[in-house]
Amino acid sequence: MSLLTVGSVAFDALETPFGKTDKIIGGAATYITLSASYFTKGNNLVAVVGGDFPKEMIGLLEDHGVDTEGLEIVADGKTFFWSGRYHEDMNTRDTLETQLNVMEHFDPTIPESYQTTEYLMLGNTVPATQKLVIERMAKRPKLVMLDTMNLWMDIAMDDLKAVLKLVDVLTINDEEARQLSGEYSLRKAAKVIMAMGPQTLIIKKGEHGALLFQADRIFFAPALPLEEVFDPTGAGDSFAGGFIGYLASTDDISFDNMKRAIIYGSAMASFCVEKFGTERLINLTQEEIKERVQQFVNLSSFEIV
Ligand code: AMP
Repeated sequence: MSLLTVGSVAFDALETPFGKTDKIIGGAATYITLSASYFTKGNNLVAVVGGDFPKEMIGLLEDHGVDTEGLEIVADGKTFFWSGRYHEDMNTRDTLETQLNVMEHFDPTIPESYQTTEYLMLGNTVPATQKLVIERMAKRPKLVMLDTMNLWMDIAMDDLKAVLKLVDVLTINDEEARQLSGEYSLRKAAKVIMAMGPQTLIIKKGEHGALLFQADRIFFAPALPLEEVFDPTGAGDSFAGGFIGYLASTDDISFDNMKRAIIYGSAMASFCVEKFGTERLINLTQEEIKERVQQFVNLSSFEIV
C-alpha cells in the first residue's frame, strides 16, 4: 500500500555535546520518507521548499523511491529553518530558532496520483496545513497519523485541536502529551488526548522507549541502549516513518500489528541517532534492519518458569 507524507523539509543547524553543524538538510518529512522508504514502494511527498534548497537532495529522496511531484519549490522563497541545541543528556533540547519561511503560508496541492493513497502521515508542520491535506484527499485514507510539537500547542492550539478530531493515530513525546492534556500521569494524559479524536496514541519517551495506547490497551516498546548517540534529531520522525511504513507495507492496522510496527519504528530511530542528520538513514540495508529488530526482540523477551 502506498503512503503520503506531509511535513517540513528543512535546513537545520544543530549543536550537540559532540559537535556543531552549519545548515544541514533536515525536516520531519525528510526523515519520515527516508525511513519509510525501507518498507513501502509508493512513497509520496507533499511539502514546500525555497529556491535555496539543493537539487541533489531532491535527487537523493528520489533515489530512495520518494515521489517528489508534490514537493513545491517557491523559487524566490526561503526554505524552513530550525536550529536546536541538545543538553548533556542528549534526551532534551532547546529550540534556538525557527524560521517558518515558505512553510508559513503553504497552500498544499495534492497531485492526482496521490489522491487515493491509503496511508497518510501528517508530519510536523503547521496544523492548518495538516488539516487542509486531509480535506483535499479525494477519499478518506484508511489510516491517518499525525505528529506535532510544543510550538504548535503554544501558537496554534485551536487549529491543532481541530485537526486532531480527524486523525486515527497521534504520536508525540511525553512532555508534549503533558502539555496537550494538562495531566502529569501519562495514563491519564492518554485518556484525555484520545477523547480529542485519535483512537490510538503513541507517547515517545526518547531513550526510555515508547508507549502505545488504544482504548484500555497499553503496549511498551523499549529503546535500544546504544553505546553512542551522536545526534537525536529526526529520531521521532524516523520512528514515525518506520511505524507507518511497516503498517502500509503489511496493510494491517490491528493493534497486534501496531505492536510490531512500533518495534520497526524504534529500530529506525536507533539508526538515525548514530550519525549526524540523515547520514545514517541514507545507506541502510534490509539485513541491518532485520538484525536490529532482532536485537529489540532479544532485549525484552524472557520466559517465566
Ligand atoms: P524530531 O527530532 O524527530 O523531533 O524532528 C526534528 C526535525 O523537525 C528537524 O529536522 C526540524 O527541521 C523539524 N522541525 C523542528 N521544528 C519544527 C516545526 N515547528 N515544524 C516542522 N518541523 C520542525
